[in-house]
Amino acid sequence: MTQETTQPEVNIGLVGHVDHGKTTLVEALSGSWTDQHSEEMKRGISIRLGYADTTFRQCPGVEEPDCYTVDEECPDGEASEPLRTVSFVDAPGHETLMATMLAGASLMDGAVLVVSATEDVPQAQTEEHLMALDIIGIDNIVIAQNKLDLVDRERAMENYEQIQEFVEGTVAEDAPIVPISAQQETNLDVLIGAIEETIPTPDRSDDDTAEMFVARSFDINRPGTTWDGLTGGVIGGSLVSGELSVDDEIELRPGREVEEGGQTEWQPLTTTVRSLQAGNGSPDSVGPGGLIGVGTGLDPSLTKGDSLGGQVAGEPGTLPPTRNDFEMEVELLDRVVGENDEVEAISTGEPLMLTVGTATTVGAVTSARDGECEVNLKRPVCARDGATIAINRRVGARWRLIGIGTLRA
Ligand code: GDP
Ligand code: MG
Repeated sequence: MTQETTQPEVNIGLVGHVDHGKTTLVEALSGSWTDQHSEEMKRGISIRLGYADTTFRQCPGVEEPDCYTVDEECPDGEASEPLRTVSFVDAPGHETLMATMLAGASLMDGAVLVVSATEDVPQAQTEEHLMALDIIGIDNIVIAQNKLDLVDRERAMENYEQIQEFVEGTVAEDAPIVPISAQQETNLDVLIGAIEETIPTPDRSDDDTAEMFVARSFDINRPGTTWDGLTGGVIGGSLVSGELSVDDEIELRPGREVEEGGQTEWQPLTTTVRSLQAGNGSPDSVGPGGLIGVGTGLDPSLTKGDSLGGQVAGEPGTLPPTRNDFEMEVELLDRVVGENDEVEAISTGEPLMLTVGTATTVGAVTSARDGECEVNLKRPVCARDGATIAINRRVGARWRLIGIGTLRA
């Protein structure tokens, strides 16, 4: 496998129904099996997203789309040339993990919707994930019609037409549909060509201030390490804007909960960037794209066991406010995800599970009107005005996605 040290410049989400082949496709394109992350997902509701980086390459002198590859060596023995390093965010297909997918969507610059040719279109999460992309406004979409090796020509054509019909009038209306077999690695050159064409690297201005969504945090020290041998806490996540460099001072919000005179309060943490990790390398500075690791000067007991997951990091004084409550505009879905029931209006007093960036928190509704509501949070979040919020309601034993909110000042 290739050992690129280039930081990925674009995040591409893999969405679609469970078992349609998202993880297999990521593996075929990158050689990494992202499911190793989802094993950890069972441990709680905090965010675990599978990231895998790969470099798209081109064989010189070969026509499109045959020229596209992820291999360093071309079939004719020539060396391929790198085009672009991308990061795949492999969203879990299972319905209960919809909030995770949406939190991941806030980091997605485009998406590949994987649809199996072996089943009728749409399956439940094919529809729901497309609906979510629609509401969040992710419109750079490529459709991979997968498992072509398992169907005959006639069935493949029928399924292709079902997909076309299904996306009509949606955000994916103009998305290219590429027939592939992820498992047999068939037609992946055409798929890479379609991604290169349809999901451009976003124009990011360098002078934006750094804002990092923290998804994970660790203590990398072995048990029993003495204080003089301790390495500071590590945070992992993605930059949504700006740049981070070694020696930068950073702030984390909401930070940590401190008790003073019987009152608890959240106080921001400040520390220094000691090391950076991105795209298998340790660069001096990083920008948006892919998963990054930040070694800090924080006491490792503060970063242990993902305790800072869901927080936001950036230049001190520039981060969004920490909010214990907020007001949001609400757009409810027509149906409860995973159920056939219509979504009933939000009512005062009901608990909602809210996903904001990489943070998941529970809020009690303190007032609800048509198209808007106010919530009081159990655990505060750091979020900008206009932030997208996935709204989940308890239906039976599970939290179900019922709509999308927009945070209001
Ligand atoms: P995900 O839930 O969408 O991530 O689906 P997976 O990638 O885990 O794939 C589900 C199953 O379908 C696995 O057993 C894969 O080996 C199989 N699969 C995925 N893609 C293909 C394909 O193109 N052809 C065939 N025959 N099987 C596939
Ligand atoms: Mg998978």
